[in-house]
This record gives sequence, structure tokens and C-alpha cells, in this order.
Amino acid sequence: MTQIEEIAARLGVRAERGRRFAELTSLRVGGAIDWVITPDTEEQAAAIVHELDNAGIGWRPLGSGSNVLADDGDHHYVVLSLSNMKGEVHIDGELVSVSAGYSLPRLCIDVARAGLSGIEGLGGIPGTVGGALWMNAGAYGHEIGTVTENVRVAREGKVVEIPGESIQWNYRHTSFADGELLLGATLRLEKDDPEKIKARMDDAKSKRLATQPHGARSAGCFFKNPPASTIGTGKMIDEMGMKGQRRGSAVVSPVHANFIVTEGEDARAEDALALAEEIRERVRREQGIELEYEVELWRANPGTQINEDEQTQMNADQSGKEQ
Ligand SMILES: Cc1cc2nc3c(=O)[nH]c(=O)nc-3n(C[C@H](O)[C@H](O)[C@H](O)COP(=O)(O)OP(=O)(O)OC[C@H]3O[C@@H](n4cnc5c(N)ncnc54)[C@H](O)[C@@H]3O)c2cc1C
Repeated sequence: MTQIEEIAARLGVRAERGRRFAELTSLRVGGAIDWVITPDTEEQAAAIVHELDNAGIGWRPLGSGSNVLADDGDHHYVVLSLSNMKGEVHIDGELVSVSAGYSLPRLCIDVARAGLSGIEGLGGIPGTVGGALWMNAGAYGHEIGTVTENVRVAREGKVVEIPGESIQWNYRHTSFADGELLLGATLRLEKDDPEKIKARMDDAKSKRLATQPHGARSAGCFFKNPPASTIGTGKMIDEMGMKGQRRGSAVVSPVHANFIVTEGEDARAEDALALAEEIRERVRREQGIELEYEVELWRANPGTQINEDEQTQMNADQSGKEQ
């Protein structure tokens, strides 16, 4: 039995080999993963990462994989898959407590029905609550950070609550430290008429359907909007005539130019990356603007666990996303 199997067995958590990022991310690309560990509860998740840290084993948390582009190599670290850690939604007046693995679109429906407003603009964002917190997901005038009362995180094997106001909630980026595992959150919403909330949610949904590809394999907007630019990145790429541009299995969506979609059973991350770099190069040359990735780029590691160089590279990738 390996050390990872031993830890998982002792804590009663499923650990699997032979999974690929292509199965676990919405772009449906990416290589093999050494181990996928799937906790069911916040307590289990906190205990596991503590054990992995103590054993010096590298790990990364994954929600629904709707904002991650993992490369095609073999990823020699543990992926902590949180999509089973759903728990139950607890509503107490205007406070809503939810686990990180809960679906964000599902949560938006639940709270709208309960007559609670504040996240209806987020209804169409695929993914988990944990992923939304990590990225400070936002759309149509709402951002999750602005309604977050507190966040539960894993510290020394325990579930610890930290106040939402101690976190910096920036544009698709937060001040959570690398290696922080988010277990759940309490949101503070506002009472409103359920019919009115639903109407606003439906409105956001129809805008989304009218402007974004649906049913396609994407990770949402690939690049952030440049802070100083008067036009959005999608419009900029569209005006350069790049809609429909292809690199192997990756295409610039003909519907929304800031979406890269993948096609085919054997789609490759390297195609999506090459296309993304081609876009960045043209925007740099023609507009003098350095586009920053909104999707997270996850690189495979050559060693048996995340080594220092790789971690530094990952950190560099992360900080490269800051605005
Ligand atoms: C069609 C489409 C439309 C989209 N539209 C929007 C939009 O309008 N607005 C928007 O903001 N985003 C949008 N996105 C991007 C994506 O849906 C969001 O970023 C979402 O919040 C990611 O959630 P996830 O569970 O899939 O996270 P993942 O993709 O699994 O992970 C994203 C990052 O969060 C980290 N993470 C995930 N869970 C945890 C955790 N529990 N603890 C610590 N770190 C964690 C991961 O390590 C990774 O770094 C869109 C994506 C798609 C495919």
C-alpha cells in the first residue's frame, strides 16, 4: 500500500489512480493524474490535506474544473476533487451556509426560492462554490466576495472560520494564499420577492445564452479584460478577425471571441495553449496590450511530487493573473 492509499484508507476517503484532466475539466483536455482523492465532508478534506502536507505530498484542489486548463503531460501530484463535498445548504434568516463542493448554479436557485437576493447574477456560472470563492466569480453586477460573511478553511487538520472582510476580493482573483483549502462559506444575502429575484436571474441567463456559446467545451472567458482598455477582450479579438481561428482541436468560438472551445475525442491542451498564445501575440503586436489569462494553467510536474521549481512556476502563473 502506498502512503497515499494508507492516508486515504485511514480517513475513509476514496483515492483513485488512472484519472485524467480530460475527464475532470470542462475543456475536456489534459493529461493523467497520479492520484485523485475525493472527500465527502469538510472535516475529511481538512484532515487529508494536513496528512498530505505532513507527508510532503503535493496536492491541488479542484472543483468542477470549469476554469482550469491542465496541460497534456503526466501530473505527478494529488488532485483533491471537491465535487462530492456538497453538504447541505443551511439558511438562517439572511445567512446561508454552504460547503465548497456545492454547485453554484444550484445554490443560486435555492436562495432565489427562499427569497434571498445577492447572487442571482451568478446563476449561469458553472462550477462549485469553492471555485467561485477562489476566483471571486462574478457576472451581471454580482460578485461572490461582496456577499461573503465568512469562509471556512483547512488549518492544521481542522475547519477554521475566517471573516470575509479579511480577504481581498479582486477582479477574478483573491488574496487566499497558495495551498489554502476552502471548505465552505457563509453568505449574507438580502430578503426580496422570489418572483423578482427569479426574473433577474432569468434575465442574466438569457443575456448569457445570447452572447456565449452553450453546449460547447470551454472554460468561460480565457483572458481578463485589460484594466485600461475601453473595449473588452472579446470585442478586441473579434475586431482582429480571429473568430473561428483554429489550432488543431482548439477554436476561437464564433459566438464569443474570448472563449476558446475544444473539439473531438482526442482534443489536446497544447492546441488550446498555442491558440491562446497566438491571440496574445497578435494583441501585443497590434494593440500593445499584454493579455492576462483568466483561466488557470496547470502544468504537469516531472518529479514524483511538486518540487520547488514547479511550485515557483505555479506561483508565478498565479501572480501573473493578478491585475
Ligand atoms: C461556459 C462558462 C461560463 C463561465 N462564465 C463565468 C462568468 O460569467 N464569471 C466568472 O467569474 N467565471 C465564469 N466561468 C469560469 C468558472 O465557471 C468560474 O471561475 C468558476 O467559479 C470555477 O469554479 P470550479 O468549481 O469549476 O473551479 P475549478 O475550475 O475547479 O478551479 C478554479 C480554481 O479554484 C481553485 N479551487 C477550486 N475549489 C477550491 C477550494 N475548495 N479551495 C481552494 N481552491 C479551490 C482551483 O484550485 C483552481 O485554482 C465560466 C466558465 C464556463 C465554462
